Amino acid sequence: MSSKKKRVKKNYKRKHLMVFIFIVSLILLGVLGYFKCIKNQLNLKGYNGDITINYKGKYNGDDFTACYGNMFDCKKAKIKRIGDIDTSKLGKQKVTYEIEYNGKKKKIVQEVEIVDKEKPVIKVESASICPNGKINTVNFTVTDNYDGDITDKAKVEYKDNKIIITVSDSSKNEAVKEIKDPVKEDKDGPVITLNGNRVVSLRVNDSYEDEGAKAEDKCDGEVKVKTEGSFNTSVAGSYTITYTAKDSSNNESTEERIINVYDVNSGERVVYLTFDDGPSQYTGKLLDVLKKYNVKATFFVTTNGPDDIIKREYNEGHTVALHTATHVYSYLYSSVDSYFEDLNAVQYRVKNLTGLNSTMVRFPGGSSNMISANYDGGIHIMSILVDEFEKRGYQYYDWNVDSDDAGSATTADEVYNNVVSTLKEGSSVVLQHDIKEYSVDAVERIIQYGQANGYTFDKLTPSSPKAHHGVNN
Ligand SMILES: [Zn+2]
Repeated sequence: MSSKKKRVKKNYKRKHLMVFIFIVSLILLGVLGYFKCIKNQLNLKGYNGDITINYKGKYNGDDFTACYGNMFDCKKAKIKRIGDIDTSKLGKQKVTYEIEYNGKKKKIVQEVEIVDKEKPVIKVESASICPNGKINTVNFTVTDNYDGDITDKAKVEYKDNKIIITVSDSSKNEAVKEIKDPVKEDKDGPVITLNGNRVVSLRVNDSYEDEGAKAEDKCDGEVKVKTEGSFNTSVAGSYTITYTAKDSSNNESTEERIINVYDVNSGERVVYLTFDDGPSQYTGKLLDVLKKYNVKATFFVTTNGPDDIIKREYNEGHTVALHTATHVYSYLYSSVDSYFEDLNAVQYRVKNLTGLNSTMVRFPGGSSNMISANYDGGIHIMSILVDEFEKRGYQYYDWNVDSDDAGSATTADEVYNNVVSTLKEGSSVVLQHDIKEYSVDAVERIIQYGQANGYTFDKLTPSSPKAHHGVNN
């Protein structure tokens, strides 16, 4: 063989080898691509799995893409997010991604935890310690990005000449603030707290003993109270008792108690609280308030409500008087007999429970009511009943202060305002209903107002003012 022939043959072999390698590579790549497609039907890019985000941080949704197919033909899959993440709520939340590819669906559930890593912020306005080393004043506030104002959660201590404020938020992020060498001073006097009411209203010859006061000092703890002034319950007038307390830094505080002694018979301001339609489940708490202020009231009761409450009204010194058994106008004002039949029923109940034969009455609707004319067949029943009352020894009571709790007043505030704004200079007979909780709720403030403004409270008796409206039927 010539060397030329040999070279041609060599070239021919190399070409074949190259083609062979090229074909094998193509097959390999094809197989790889094919297998890649089978093995990794879905390629997810940018998906981070479960993540953590700061409170009120941003969650944009995981910005990832998904492809399917093979390396020669890679198609984008559709991704749909189901649900959302609320980063203003701490804790773990879940969101689902639905990926659609090749007619199939794959779901990925991502867990996102919202955490609060921010410490609360402590702001100190002023701080001082007592001459004896106790903490005196530390005026500060603590605000937290998540919990809001958590000033009351802070712990304050004094150690090594430092006031140390420590506080943790609900995610246990702790903040500490130290105030080095705080000023030693005590500028505040003791706080005096009176036992009993600040304004005491008494009738002449009522018994009353000064209830005293307590004094507490920030630096010294409990300190002595000096009492000055006197009063005479047998002489009408306004008396002042002064309480004084001093701490070890000579800071002095004073408080006063006003004791008003009224002569009821000399045309003073007297308030008669009266309650109709009870007793009810609210009457017990009304009795608690009356007891707290030592106020006596009048209850025009029905045959409804608990027996023991009527007994309690009587035992606690209130007047138990008569309203009605049925409170049904069409019945009780249909005839004189019907009226007294109804009244006898409630009178019998009161006698059974208290032993008292009450003759004190409040007409349903008041003596001036015109409703009775709808049912009495024209006999002018109110006029007849008033005459009958005189013959049979009954007294009836109307009112001259209407709380309007049976009308348009539907809150304790309205009842309170209606009463205190219309109190009279002489006698005020106040109409309320103890079957209305909001009306009962107004009583404590009415008493406080009255006692602070020179009114005495009393219960109705057979000889009390009757605030008659006048009969119209
Ligand atoms: Zn009534």
